[in-house]
Amino acid sequence: MKTVRFLSGGAVPALGQGTWNIGEKPARKPDEVRALQLGLDLGMTLIDTAEMYGEGGAELVVGEAIAGRRDQAFIVSKVYPHNASFDGVQQACERSLRRLRIETIDLYLLHWQGHHPLAETFDGFETLKKAGKIKAYGVSNFDLENMAEAQRYGTPATNQVLYNLMKRGIEFDLLPWARAQRMPIMAYSPLETSGREQAALLDNPGLKAVANAHGVTPAQIALAWVLHQDGVIAIPKAVDPVHLRANRAAADIQLSAGDLAALDQAFPPPRRRRALEMR
Ligand code: NAP
Repeated sequence: MKTVRFLSGGAVPALGQGTWNIGEKPARKPDEVRALQLGLDLGMTLIDTAEMYGEGGAELVVGEAIAGRRDQAFIVSKVYPHNASFDGVQQACERSLRRLRIETIDLYLLHWQGHHPLAETFDGFETLKKAGKIKAYGVSNFDLENMAEAQRYGTPATNQVLYNLMKRGIEFDLLPWARAQRMPIMAYSPLETSGREQAALLDNPGLKAVANAHGVTPAQIALAWVLHQDGVIAIPKAVDPVHLRANRAAADIQLSAGDLAALDQAFPPPRRRRALEMR
């Protein structure tokens, strides 16, 4: 499995697992726990969660899935912007640690920018780091200007943003900037989430043609394309074991120059700066 290295030196698999919409219904919990465990077995050991997902429910599912195998997992969680005061992050982090049943969160992100000053949030993150409650911190849904500001107040390890074949805006400015800094970008909704939005991606004739040529599904090509990008970590969410295995296999797909050109034609790269897209 391809790995992506943080500037601090640690490396993680380029393909992880998301948990949005997990932990919302008790009846689904056993399947969700099994899914995350299968993902771990398959080497997708980075698990992305947030206090927001299922209002703590997703962290509880993650905690159950990694019980007894903490060392195999790299846990990313996120604090709500309204909890991002100095004291707020200490308390939110403690709650997340309890739900996750772990001592340390590997990477703790500000979910999006809110009204608390970044300097204060990062001060809170640094204090958590010194106390061993988190190993590193970062941000999410930050555009280039937000990132420049963020770097004045601290050392975010990553920026987690929306990125997939249909949402390529970051290629114009944020992605090249991050690469120049050797800062990994975490691509969320790499399969364009679900429902109608996902259908618009997966039913694209250009994508289907590349998938047919490889004998794989359009989702696998969409994921392989995100994974092909340098310095990018993809965190698809999958509960269906067929999806999990397909996603793991997508990490081994080699896209040719011809495939990439066909995908550029179907999903043109940005020609000008666009406002950062988010969910
Ligand atoms: P996604 O991962 O792009 O898509 C998830 C959907 O795709 C699910 O319905 C899943 O179905 C399906 N799927 C997964 N693998 C598939 C495959 N191989 N073939 C066909 N369908 C497949 O969407 P997402 O959940 O929006 O984004 C991923 C993660 O990013 C989230 O879970 C969350 O951790 C993170 N995220 C972060 C932010 C942020 O603001 N920072 C925002 C959104 C998301 P099944 O579950 O039924 O298998």
